[in-house]
Amino acid sequence: MKSRDIEPFFATLQQANPQPRTELAYTSVFELLAAVLLSAQATDASVNKATQALFAVAPTPARMLALGADGLTSCIRTVGLYRTKTAHLLSTCRMLVEQHGGRVPRTRAALEALPGVGRKTANVVLNVAYGEPTIAVDTHIFRVSNRTGLAPGPTPLVVEEGLLQRVPAHYRVDAHHWLILHGRYVCQARRPLCERCGVARWCDTYARASKGP
Ligand code: SF4
Repeated sequence: MKSRDIEPFFATLQQANPQPRTELAYTSVFELLAAVLLSAQATDASVNKATQALFAVAPTPARMLALGADGLTSCIRTVGLYRTKTAHLLSTCRMLVEQHGGRVPRTRAALEALPGVGRKTANVVLNVAYGEPTIAVDTHIFRVSNRTGLAPGPTPLVVEEGLLQRVPAHYRVDAHHWLILHGRYVCQARRPLCERCGVARWCDTYARASKGP
């Protein structure tokens, strides 16, 4: 994607969805952190289904700790990798209670020190909860960035660095949501819906396909 195309590319995504939001359900920063932790290799819909019951009984780190492994497992059993996620979530709750007064820290270093929290989860929390211009590269953003040529790269970190360099500052806070939603609903993994894609005219893959072999 040419540099001059980046502005209209994001302007188009913004026009279609001026106030993009995460599709994970949460009512506090802690609930957001827990939902993102649970969302690894799981759909947002499956996470929301599980957290509806979970957050009703355990909306804080202390309450989730009190629930214990068996109680937590019974709530999140339908979410993939639930055993590992139970262990990470309880260890994270313990650290939040013991080291952060039950609150979710605001720095990348402190977030990434929490069990099960990697760069992607920290980026989501910093962006969605604290409004920082971070871009968490998940499978959708990785695919869209490479297909469009917006920020091609072989690893999520390389793509993230490319996005941080190329996404104009005034789009950076919401870029994460626009790119995820575009990948989830239009630029889908198996069959991208190029014929109804609003940003096709700036997409490298579309341009190559239009030229033909
Ligand atoms: S034109 Fe096709 S490949 Fe390009 S962003 Fe749109 S859906 Fe994805």
